[in-house]
Order: sequence, then structure tokens, then C-alpha cells
Amino acid sequence: MKFAIRYLENKETKLKGRYITNHHIIPILEQYKSEFTISTIGKSVLRNDIYLIKIGTGKKVVLGWSQMHGNESTTTKAIFDFIKYIANNKDEQEVTEFLNTFSFYVIPILNPDGAAVYTRENANKIDLNRDAKQLSQPESVVLRDVFNKVQPQLCLNLHDQRSIFGFETGKPAIISFLAPAADPEQTITVSRKIAMQQIVVLASKLQAYIPGCVGRYDDTFNINCVGDTFQQFGVPTILFEAGHTKRDYNREITRKYLFFILLQLFVLTEANGISATYKDYFLLPENIKNYKDVILRNVRLQSFPYPISIGIQYKEILKGNTVKFVPEIESIGDLSNFYAHKEIDVAGSEILINNQKNIKIGDKISLINNYFDKTLEYFDKNSLEF
Ligand SMILES: [Zn+2]
Repeated sequence: MKFAIRYLENKETKLKGRYITNHHIIPILEQYKSEFTISTIGKSVLRNDIYLIKIGTGKKVVLGWSQMHGNESTTTKAIFDFIKYIANNKDEQEVTEFLNTFSFYVIPILNPDGAAVYTRENANKIDLNRDAKQLSQPESVVLRDVFNKVQPQLCLNLHDQRSIFGFETGKPAIISFLAPAADPEQTITVSRKIAMQQIVVLASKLQAYIPGCVGRYDDTFNINCVGDTFQQFGVPTILFEAGHTKRDYNREITRKYLFFILLQLFVLTEANGISATYKDYFLLPENIKNYKDVILRNVRLQSFPYPISIGIQYKEILKGNTVKFVPEIESIGDLSNFYAHKEIDVAGSEILINNQKNIKIGDKISLINNYFDKTLEYFDKNSLEF
């Protein structure tokens, strides 16, 4: 069966958008408690529960964790899509095989406090992905305890990346991977080779859907990062970065590709036998910070003698139970080396931003229109379509 159909039939519709917290996942976990082994493995700084789901009883042990960074929820949504797929299709031969082959342990939200307030860090303002050496935070200890207990043969470190990453070709980084280094010399250790080879398989599957939009992260070693540490322990670890494309600010498109990756990873696939060598890992393009959310091109401003570009980034602000995307001026000048998820060419016009001629970096934007013809609108903060 095609991946896309599997996705449509099994998407966990109770989870959507960017704001995903314990509050959202607890009812779903409750629903699966007779299907899978679900346990509370510890508490966060603010004494919120951290959950572990075990799927399958096989000998291949895989440990994944999502929302180590509280505001990075796309992989959490994909995990629940995958779980729903497994639960709904237990009679399928390939699902039975998966359940007999793998023990997949997954922590859906490692940082529930950060998730609740939509921050990267935990309640002590510590980035848990810089705490692998010190283990100063309860969430870090919970992860390390599970790692020690289940002794995984493969780890999946699941994250989101910002919308600023693309490639030299001008394509956006919709999914990026990293086989973290195990030492400062970036030696290709046995465990790194395994991670790299897995990434090559996953990336080649994705190329069919999003050609040129799959890449790899810079592999500078940092012992404070969890992936680097686990790799140093000799356990192959793959970092997943769910990225951005066009108007997918709710990351529902990327979510689908992550579901595909999970299917591919656990060999629930109609395309078995992709041959892969770890060396092809280096053929994946490296992420570059060359993207903006929006670029206005060919803008005339009185303070510049020639047309310039204006770069706009959305700030993610939690309001109530929704993440709002607030556009701000991020750069003014020559942006010829940058691409954007939305490009607007104003063809040499003078513009007004919020009815002002003077603009500066950091200004929040409501409306951009033509100076001479105010009915000509180039950008409206309410125009973001989801
Ligand atoms: Zn992250």
C-alpha cells in the first residue's frame, strides 16, 4: 500500500498545529493503554509526567524521544500517526513482522514543561540538548535512565528546525538529518556508519517525494549534545530535523514525510532493498542558513539610492492554546544570496509599512502597501493561510 494512503487513513487527527502538550497526548495515551505498554518514567522540573510508550516485543531495540525542545512538536505528531497506523493494522503481515522484530520505545514529550509554555528550554531555562554531560535536569536523567535500561541498538533524536534553513540550490530544507560525531575528530566510528547508512536509506526514500529538499546538519562534535554522547557510547543515533516548506507553518506537510520515514525505518515498505552505503551520506547537501519566511524584493526606500530587499521572519508567540505567527522585519538590504518561503516583488515601488515610511529592523508588521496607491497591498499580517 502506498505511504500516502497509509498516512491519510491513519493520521492522528486529535493532534494538529504547533502547540502539542501533555494535555493533548494524555487522552490518546489512555486510548492505547491496552494496546501498548505505556508507563510514566519520571517527572519534569514542574512535576509533570514524562511518558514512555513501548511498541512491539522484538529483539531490535530502538529508543526515540521527541520534544526534548518543548516547542518542536512535528515529530510528536508523526509518532502518534505511526502508532495509530500500527494499532489499526495489526492484522497486516508487515505490521506483525514489525511487532515481532522491534521493541520501539518512544518518549513522546521529554520536556513537558517547555511544551506547555512553548519554549525550547525546560522550566529551569536549560536546553536539554546541552545537558548530556552534566545531567543537571530531571528530564536529562529520565532519558539517560531509559537509555541505560533498554540498551537501544538505535536512537532517534527527534526535533524541528527553524524555517531559515535551505540548500545552495535554493531549495528549502524540509527534512534534515545528522549522524552526530562521536569525537572531536569526527571519526566515522562503527555506530556512526550505521546511523549514516540508515540516513541514506531514509533520504533516498524521501527524494522521491521532496527531491532536493533533504539534507544533513553540520557535524561539529559537542559532548553536551545527547546524540553526540550516545554515539560516543557506541549506539548509532540519528538526529531528525523536521523543517519547513512554503506556507506550512503548522508543519502538517512535514509531518506526513516524517510518518513516511518512520514507515521506511521500520521496514513497512513497498520499496524494500534500497541499497545504501554510508559514504553516500556525504552526498546529501549540508544545511545553510539562506532562507527567510518572506522577502520583498525591488523595494524603494528613501534612505537607499537603489532598490533593496526586506526580509521578514515570523516570531512564534503562544496565545491561549494557539501559536501565533507574528511577522517582523529581520533584514533590510541586499538579500540576493537568500531565498524565501514567500517572495513578493514590488517592482521598484515605494512602500509604506504600517502606514509609515520609516522602517527599522525588529518592527512588527501589520500591513505593507504601495506609497502612491494605498489600495495596492503587498503583505497583510492576516494573510498567512493555514
Ligand atoms: Zn531541537
